[in-house]
Amino acid sequence: MERICSIIEDETQKSGKLLCASNHSNLVELIMTKTIIKAYKFRLQTSKAVEAKLENTLNLCRELYNSALRERKDAWTINRINVNRFDQDKQLPEIKKTNPEYKDIHSQVLQDVLKRLDKSFQSFFRRVKQGVKAGFPRFKGKNWFDSFCYAQSGFSISGSHLTLSKIGKVKIKLSRSVIGKIKTCTIKKEIDKWFVIFTVETLPEPLDKTGESVGLDVGISAFATLSDGTQIDNFKYYESTQKKLRIAQRRVSRRKKGSNQRRKAVLQLKKIHRKIRNQRNDFQHKVSTYLVKTYDLITIEKLNILGMSRGILSKQVNDVAWNSFFQKLRYKVENTGKKSIEVNPNGTSQICSSCGEIVKKDLSVRVHHCHHCNLTIDRDENAALNILRLGLSLKDVTYSVG
Ligand SMILES: [Zn+2]
Repeated sequence: MERICSIIEDETQKSGKLLCASNHSNLVELIMTKTIIKAYKFRLQTSKAVEAKLENTLNLCRELYNSALRERKDAWTINRINVNRFDQDKQLPEIKKTNPEYKDIHSQVLQDVLKRLDKSFQSFFRRVKQGVKAGFPRFKGKNWFDSFCYAQSGFSISGSHLTLSKIGKVKIKLSRSVIGKIKTCTIKKEIDKWFVIFTVETLPEPLDKTGESVGLDVGISAFATLSDGTQIDNFKYYESTQKKLRIAQRRVSRRKKGSNQRRKAVLQLKKIHRKIRNQRNDFQHKVSTYLVKTYDLITIEKLNILGMSRGILSKQVNDVAWNSFFQKLRYKVENTGKKSIEVNPNGTSQICSSCGEIVKKDLSVRVHHCHHCNLTIDRDENAALNILRLGLSLKDVTYSVG
């Protein structure tokens, strides 16, 4: 059964917050407490009338986004002028006068659209500066703009009802209570369903210490191998859904472009993709929760280096999956008072974890056998042991042990 409500615990951002300063005679004690940002996602139960309003808001936001992008693009290409977000913010009252339909949208929602555009420009400029291939921010087509956000105000919750300014009351399927101060409220459309995502500032919830450390080698045959020899299989639901996916893809390609039948088939395909995404997220949450509960120190590989060290076998799809898994893991480590260290994975599969001798082997060799010390173990387990060793050697440098 599909999960309709879930709590996403994405690593969003962490901030250091000064909680209190107490003054004992000469001694000024400052207590720094790290707060974390947590995201809660709930399904909305929308009426046709509310859906129409949400849809309208989404559309107008998208049009604003595209016009603001057009202005920035033209100003730059024609006059070499950089229009920033604040210049565009100032135009909002004028826009509301000339296009009264924008009066039906809360001003913070509109400001957030301009902020989002600004963010994509910032990341474009950053990538250009780094000399990385960067795509210019794009105009958003109808299916490429799926959310809008109340950044501070304009929304309130009472019981299981969410009141959105300029839209009205919407029922939320609250699967658990939201703990902490709500910072933002985002409304998101996912294919044919509407969701609300609250971001909340909250304090970490430490887990009991176990005294155990682990190294983690992510792989292609197994999802990950731990330094204690445990193998975590790739998530299995994917295989069974693959078949449905292939059938749905074939159905789309058979149907005539622009036809009603094709539109239905595309919708079906999107739903299967959503199911796979949800299942993969579930799997990653389970694995990362298991790791933070079992170990105090988790050593992983630095992903940007990983791609290069794995060569062509490192498919992009794997990188994406590992990346989102590592994000969840990092967030949970922060949230539970555990530690994680990232190490350079170069050579971890070749070095003997027992004696340090280099044992050359290509990717097809699945067993590590060292002629020097006679160690024979699984190739990935050997790599995981090396990753753990590297992590432990950095532990004292990076963190105070305690
Ligand atoms: Zn050896």
